[in-house]
Amino acid sequence: KYHNELVELKGNIRVFCRVRPVIKEDGISPHTVLTADVDDEDVLVVENSKGRTQQFDVDKLFLPEMSQEKVFDEVKALVTSCVDGYHVCIFAYGQTGSGKTYTMEGPSSDPGINQRALALLFEQAADRSTDWSFDIKVSVLEIYNETVRDLLSSDPSDKLDIKLNQDGNLHVPGLSWVQVKNVNEVNQTFELGHQNRATASTNMNEYSSRSHALLCVEVTGLNRTTGAKTLGKLHLVDLAGSERVSKSGADGARLKEAQSINKSLSALGDVIAALRSRQNFVPYRNSKLTYLLQESLGGDSKVLMIVQVAPVERHVNETLCSLNFAQRVR
Ligand code: ADP
Ligand code: MG
Repeated sequence: KYHNELVELKGNIRVFCRVRPVIKEDGISPHTVLTADVDDEDVLVVENSKGRTQQFDVDKLFLPEMSQEKVFDEVKALVTSCVDGYHVCIFAYGQTGSGKTYTMEGPSSDPGINQRALALLFEQAADRSTDWSFDIKVSVLEIYNETVRDLLSSDPSDKLDIKLNQDGNLHVPGLSWVQVKNVNEVNQTFELGHQNRATASTNMNEYSSRSHALLCVEVTGLNRTTGAKTLGKLHLVDLAGSERVSKSGADGARLKEAQSINKSLSALGDVIAALRSRQNFVPYRNSKLTYLLQESLGGDSKVLMIVQVAPVERHVNETLCSLNFAQRVR
């Protein structure tokens, strides 16, 4: 029985790795250090700074030529399970510049998981519409320096609390939820979220890499004949950059940011590792991120960590850190 439970759990936590292509910021003909193993396409081979190779086993490896569509093909089943009432979390993890936002948001000409997931939910809802009616709503939040902000609020500077209800459920009082019926409405909502996020900063790219961006989706189903109800939840998270910040160069504010990022990313790693090894105590309370997502990380929730890496030598040490994180939660 114990063995079966382990197998089941293994099915609930997955770790993918996506290698972004070489980009012009990598310089002219940079040395690339990442390849797939010749015998196993889901084993990443890294040439480390000493010229030795190290191997990392993942559940799915996406090489640079892999399209947004192909990546989404591997995520579809998870998204669909929300329509059946499951809780799902998908995270993009990695250093700044490794492709997290590309994978989750993507350019408007070739969108990432966020938009594709909503489109698939609408499709699924339509397919089942003879027996079921579905309500799909979204919220967009940000966690910066351990403060939660509602990016769809008319006053996005408001700080939100996370509360535990008497029935043991978490909720965020005052959080805006917007009902969406098609991809157009989804895009409008994302756009509003972007605008509200950008107003807080002068350098959007830099700022956004230091905060976690969360897109939360609730899918409520009602069976027309039996009256049965389902509530699925999908959390799509573009995590803050995982790069380590040197204590010497950083000013006070930057150091504080770095500490809260570090705290929440290691809390996330601790929670997933605890769930994975079936520990009785899961330390959800160590960060806002894990506290907010606790209902959707444990139990029969499904968790996918997409570890993003840059292919070039210059980033190999951060790449190894990210892959070690992946190894720990897998
Ligand atoms: P992060 O969000 O991790 O900081 P970005 O998603 O902004 O990283 O990606 C960094 C750069 O690499 C961007 O210019 C982005 O367009 C490009 N990039 C990342 N992944 C891909 C990909 N799979 N295909 C093409 N360009 C990519
Ligand atoms: Mg980004």
